[in-house]
Amino acid sequence: AFNTAVAEAQAALNAFIVTTPDAALEAARKVDADRAAGKALGPMAGVPIGMKDLFATKGVQTTAASHILEGFTPEYESTVSQKLWDAGAGMLGKLNLDQFAMGSSNETSAYGKVISPWRKSGDEAALAPGGSSGGSSAAIAARLCPAATGTDTGGSIRQPAAFTGISGIKPTYGRCSRWGIVAFASSLDQAGPMARTVRDCAIMLEAMAGFDPKDSTSLDLPVPQWEAGLDASLAGKKVGIPREYRMDGMDAEVAKSWDEGIAWLKDAGAEVVDISLPHTKYALPTYYIIAPAEASSNLARYDGVRYGLRDLPDGANLQDMYAATRAAGFGPEVKRRILIGTYVLSAGFYDAYYTQAQKVRALISRDFAAAFNHCDVILAPTTPTAAFALGENSDDPLAMYLNDVFSVPASLAGLPAMSVPAGINSQGLPLGLQIIGRPFDEQGVLNAGLAIE
Ligand code: GLN
Repeated sequence: AFNTAVAEAQAALNAFIVTTPDAALEAARKVDADRAAGKALGPMAGVPIGMKDLFATKGVQTTAASHILEGFTPEYESTVSQKLWDAGAGMLGKLNLDQFAMGSSNETSAYGKVISPWRKSGDEAALAPGGSSGGSSAAIAARLCPAATGTDTGGSIRQPAAFTGISGIKPTYGRCSRWGIVAFASSLDQAGPMARTVRDCAIMLEAMAGFDPKDSTSLDLPVPQWEAGLDASLAGKKVGIPREYRMDGMDAEVAKSWDEGIAWLKDAGAEVVDISLPHTKYALPTYYIIAPAEASSNLARYDGVRYGLRDLPDGANLQDMYAATRAAGFGPEVKRRILIGTYVLSAGFYDAYYTQAQKVRALISRDFAAAFNHCDVILAPTTPTAAFALGENSDDPLAMYLNDVFSVPASLAGLPAMSVPAGINSQGLPLGLQIIGRPFDEQGVLNAGLAIE
């Protein structure tokens, strides 16, 4: 019955690239054995989770939803997935995503798009589950698994969580080891949990986080007991409302949900203050220079020699093999990012684009640091709209990138940020609210999330 249920939902949603129900069952059996032997159970004991197919899993194919990594079966396990297995979780399968985590709709996967289980009332058009962690969000929203891993470079945990009515937290940059996660933009990439409740996110993040000497940017800090610290009373806390996020032409229902969120946090005892993040309007262009620049460098390793696909035409030399492999192995969005990235890093344009973007990134971080002198957490919408239809933005990369307008600032500043469900709009679709915290203050973010949930 377990296999049938997964197979049926899989046919409808395409959330998984590969399912591994035997691994999940093995974890469940181990719980029984450990319990019988009187052994202590881990915090995730027996929980069947989905693993975004960006995490290297020993002996199970790891594709990053790309053709170029087809057939790549790692000999090693990512630090984060190993920590989850050590906490007792079992893997239900590898989840679909935007190719190399580049996208906001899950339409760039080489394994086909993911379909959200949500529909507008009275309209059967298939909706995007968000991206890049759209397999994770669809699988949780459809109740295929109670929780899944996500990664967030510019919003890929928060935006799909918002689109599907679930919760997800991107911790402070460095909380979760990047070791064994296919790299997109290394100075931004962070893993985090996606689940139905804030409490589930707290439990899972505790299992995923922690110092790892194999990642040079890993934070050498103890992992707090976030679950034990959960407290929905916000007495004595200040919540900042960034005025620059209230943009002209903002969707009226998104604005309304933001106002409702403000009222809920006041009810929980918080004081609400107006704050300013003056460089907000530069965050999107800054992100779309830095992320492709780092991606173009990270993706240079897919050369047809070391991993997955090799396209070696008859009589080809090495250069031909690189070109043929990369032409066949990367999808159009990935190629676009590589071209943008190599352009902004090229000798003639480096100062005009990349250096400039790094300077603006520092200003964006300083805006947040200054704002946190006046508040403890920041409340904002997660996305400018509810979920859009599949295909609606797929021919227009700029329209797609605009989806990330509220999520990239916290990524550029490395701050913990969470999306929690905040009600349903008049079309019957979920909306999410975002809480951004000080560096290392995941607890403050989770607590404000709990007050909204
Ligand atoms: N949508 C953003 C992008 O396409 C963010 C992706 C992510 O966070 N992995 O780059």
